[in-house]
Amino acid sequence: MKLCRFNQDQLGVVSEETIWDVTAALQDLPSCRYPFPPGDQFITHLDTLRLKIEELVPHSSQYSLDEATLLSPVANSSKIVAAPINYQSHIDIDLVDPEIVHKHTISHISHAGLFLKAASSLVGSGSGVTLKFPDRRVDHEIELVVIIGRECCEITKEQALDYVAGYCVGLDMSIRGREDRSFRKSLDTYSVLGPWLTTADEIENPDDLDLELRINGELKQQANTRDLVYSVPELIEYASNTYTLYPGDILFTGTPHGVGPVSPGDLLDCQISGLGTMHVPVRAQSGE
Ligand code: MN
Repeated sequence: MKLCRFNQDQLGVVSEETIWDVTAALQDLPSCRYPFPPGDQFITHLDTLRLKIEELVPHSSQYSLDEATLLSPVANSSKIVAAPINYQSHIDIDLVDPEIVHKHTISHISHAGLFLKAASSLVGSGSGVTLKFPDRRVDHEIELVVIIGRECCEITKEQALDYVAGYCVGLDMSIRGREDRSFRKSLDTYSVLGPWLTTADEIENPDDLDLELRINGELKQQANTRDLVYSVPELIEYASNTYTLYPGDILFTGTPHGVGPVSPGDLLDCQISGLGTMHVPVRAQSGE
């Protein structure tokens, strides 16, 4: 199932060029009291909500996908975890460029660790990316993104895929420079998630997905997730041995080679096989 959040926080099922509005399913979410449980409550209850969603689809109103504004398919993520270097091609080709790397680089993810992006940086493709500092280079990084479905801590790679709610296309937008990653990659709109959530049952093998990113139609990044240094299950194991993961937590799996700068007015087309294509406009903060 392909689930989107669109327009005025509506919940939709995506089928080809149509969105079926199943917002009414959210009425079945249990109410909760302060302190609220950690994680995204829609993802927490996704398995039971799916039955309601399937019931609603034949009776629901339709929207044209083209005309809808797509929001982040996860609304209340507790954290965004990201892999810094997880394709050898990114290390070998991009990270020898002094404009991209300003200090000695650790060359394997087992030494580099993971990093966190602010949850407030998260947007859907319909919002686009707004560049904050006009004199700074900001690069695109297309990444397969895993959405955690159930709370987990210290799980093994053999168990890992059982804890996945689904997958999305992600953009880890990054200012190049000397500041900490949590500064350079956490600005508002610098984590783009979309175009919708594809539930895990639709993706047989997350370690064999083609991804490509185009700027204004020109191919910039192209790879397959089989080239991940830490596979998707290994990365979930690594992340869950670092942090307790909650439903709706977001795991950026790393970017392949071909990262490069974006400019106001650019349109990024980001595609992963089975997950769809998100079209992401880039704007200057002035609104250009
Ligand atoms: Mn990245």
